[in-house]
Amino acid sequence: MSDTGGKHGNSQRSLGRKTIRPSLKPRELMTPIPDLKGVWAARIITLFPNAFPGVLGESLTGKALQDGLWKLETIDLRDFGIGKHRNVDDTPAGGGAGMVLRADVVGPAIESAQAGTGPNWPLIYLSPRGKPMTQALMQKLARADGVTLLCGRFEGVDQRVLDHYNVQEVSLGDFVLTGGEIAAQALIDATVRLLPDVLGNADSTVEESFSGGLLEHPQYTRPATWQGHDIPEVLMSGHHGRIRDWRQMQSEEITRTRRPDLWSGFQEKKDT
Ligand code: SAH
Repeated sequence: MSDTGGKHGNSQRSLGRKTIRPSLKPRELMTPIPDLKGVWAARIITLFPNAFPGVLGESLTGKALQDGLWKLETIDLRDFGIGKHRNVDDTPAGGGAGMVLRADVVGPAIESAQAGTGPNWPLIYLSPRGKPMTQALMQKLARADGVTLLCGRFEGVDQRVLDHYNVQEVSLGDFVLTGGEIAAQALIDATVRLLPDVLGNADSTVEESFSGGLLEHPQYTRPATWQGHDIPEVLMSGHHGRIRDWRQMQSEEITRTRRPDLWSGFQEKKDT
């Protein structure tokens, strides 16, 4: 895959430190560029490549992108459009409102995105009909070599292309967005933070919500008293055993009352 366009004349944009560009200042050229071959990559097929990296360019995910711990490549669906106007959509067969992304546009974009990828590279369509995103999915994706994400628009994508490439459908939740880009960014954010060295403190991914099948306990920080509310006394006791027990109890209580579905899963796991 190149940054200058392949046989379809597509312009793929790479973000993060993938290439040494002549525009780099001499001082920057002197700092070692990490070997980014084999780095986890997200390839995004979208009509809106400018929406990336978006929020992923901020904070920990943004720093990790700069540091070459992962990479981001966008594939502009418009480049695969048909005719002078580069049409990507057409009216739904059978009638009805809206437009559908054409199979003969999305298909070549998928082919281009998947070029050179191995078997450990899932192909995902962000879709309200998909399996809801879970921490378990993010853990699986973080162990892959990378992922290709297809962002829909309008009424979605011609079903034949999803069937033909056996595309996995994943949903951000039971609501309808105008496009897959926000869902793609959510998926990438949740996955990238699980990659080695992205979070400074590896323990934070072990203890946080979902990791043990439970939601996280409440968190507090200074000041010790705020608007007349104190931090729970046990957390100020310095007694690590009691703190651990209290947090576990809180986690279980919050999960039981807020998420009966997670709670029954947790109990089943405990019983086996
Ligand atoms: N007509 C479709 C909705 C299309 S919304 C339906 O009723 O199912 C346009 C695009 O936004 C979709 O193709 C999908 O890529 C994206 N999208 C919308 N809601 C989403 C969600 N909950 N999760 C992930 N992607 C979503």
